[in-house]
Amino acid sequence: MLGAVDFGEADRIVTLFTRGHGRLSCFAAGARKSKRRFAGALEAGTHLTARLVSTRGDTHRLDGVDVIKSFHRLRDDLSYIARAMYCLELCRELTRDHQPHEPLFDALVQYLGLLEERKAGPTSLLKFELDALQYTGFMPRFAPCALCERETGDRPRFDPEHGGVVCFSCSPRVPRGIAVRPEVVDALARLQAGERTPLPQELRARSRDLLNLFIAHHLGRRLNSVEFMEQVGTD
Ligand SMILES: [Zn+2]
Repeated sequence: MLGAVDFGEADRIVTLFTRGHGRLSCFAAGARKSKRRFAGALEAGTHLTARLVSTRGDTHRLDGVDVIKSFHRLRDDLSYIARAMYCLELCRELTRDHQPHEPLFDALVQYLGLLEERKAGPTSLLKFELDALQYTGFMPRFAPCALCERETGDRPRFDPEHGGVVCFSCSPRVPRGIAVRPEVVDALARLQAGERTPLPQELRARSRDLLNLFIAHHLGRRLNSVEFMEQVGTD
């Protein structure tokens, strides 16, 4: 469950991220009043089984839900809430209705579980983002150079429009590219390749800046939860 907005006096429009059908919006009649049918289950981040009834066109009615996992212990700590909200917003914005992304769904459930068990450090959030981008077809390139395929070298530049990092020889072709430190490029390339070594805070912060830039470029706006993470002081 990704989020919900109130509709009218008693109802809610609920956005679900489903394993088999991708993102779906559905109408939950009486969700603001009926304690019995939805019993607090319509909280963002809850993993649930949803009973949906197809109505006209692409709309669905949510008939009832069974909670599989509420991840309620996530809600004890603002920094965990902020990271979970960020992941949910990322999934909501990177996916489209009715386009299944099963690996992303599984990665989200796994990540929220690890987060709740306090087993997911900040570096694993960067890894989740890189995986989410890959699963949805937006994978940024950190190595080799996105234009010439050679090593990115010691003066790389980053340009989301050209898919990621380019080497110094190719930099005249990306006038909007920004200079990045080679160790940041290297850290992101290693994470992308599956390495799990936790990164120091400074390197994480620079890596986050690059990913924020990349995601904002592709979505046309910054994610709202980035600001929340900054306010809470987590990464
Ligand atoms: Zn190049």
